[in-house]
Amino acid sequence: MSNRTGWGMTKNLFISAIGCLLLLSFLGCQTTTTSTDDWLQSDKIRVLSTTTLVDDLVREVGGEHVARLTLIAPALDPHSYELVKGDDEKIFAAHLIFYSGLGLEHGPNLHRFLRESEIAWSVGDAIIKDRPEAIVRIDGQIDPHIWMDVSLWLQGLDVVAEALEGLDPEHGAEYWERAAMYKKRLLALDAKIASMLDQVPLEKRYLVTSHDACNYFCRRYLATSEERLEGVWMERCSSPEGLAPDAQMSLRDLQKVVHELLTHKIDVIFPESNLSQDSLRKLIDIGKSSGLSIRIALEPLYADAMGEAGSNGDTYEKMMEHNARVLKENLCG
Ligand SMILES: [Zn+2]
Repeated sequence: MSNRTGWGMTKNLFISAIGCLLLLSFLGCQTTTTSTDDWLQSDKIRVLSTTTLVDDLVREVGGEHVARLTLIAPALDPHSYELVKGDDEKIFAAHLIFYSGLGLEHGPNLHRFLRESEIAWSVGDAIIKDRPEAIVRIDGQIDPHIWMDVSLWLQGLDVVAEALEGLDPEHGAEYWERAAMYKKRLLALDAKIASMLDQVPLEKRYLVTSHDACNYFCRRYLATSEERLEGVWMERCSSPEGLAPDAQMSLRDLQKVVHELLTHKIDVIFPESNLSQDSLRKLIDIGKSSGLSIRIALEPLYADAMGEAGSNGDTYEKMMEHNARVLKENLCG
């Protein structure tokens, strides 16, 4: 739920969030950064984003008029993140909250808070409303990893610009202008990634990762137009852990991926920056008994989060270009 005028929270929401925090305060604060105090005291528009990817959109659109803070640190799993002690202060201080949506942030307390908040805007909900046919569904479940298709994710800029304009009409034109400028850069990035992956032979364009974060990427950049039309592009990607890494992984899940590795003669699999490589090592162990020889790529992909500040994935553009380069180099090699 969202509106264009709310600076505060409803009484019910306040009570709901307090309940969450009382229940979870024993977990301790996981997201405090050195900039939190500055953000809390800033007299700019205080924007809280759930993930670094959403924060990237806010940075580009909001510019100097906003003070930004990210709730979920890059090293943490956004699928299962729960509100913890310290988050209440951030939530109550925020003028606007942006989240990825489509079920990504499904930790029960955070999910409930976002659903009930009058100042929270979902990037994914706006995209699915505008382009429902573009949303990937796995066994009826919506795949939330829309940022892995640059041409889709850039539509989130409109959500951020609309929300900021509603709160700060004086700078509305500037927000839309900044969104348009970033959109141009992202369209160029989309074409660049497609061009990089086009150089990988078709028989090598298979992507195996820890969890199903790359379906949108595979459809956009690894599959052929015929495969997209025929709806068979999904054969180009697989993972043992499913749509969320917090879900249960069975031996059957692993064997299914090993079958894909054998069928398509895949010899490299890709770790993700914020996940352990346990499931990939299990694939290697199981595959050995079938005569499979595969390696784990040395450089991880950025999937559910951008890299830490100062890394080669600390902006969305850098992260996606890094992913394209790592895939191209390893798949071609
Ligand atoms: Zn994920």
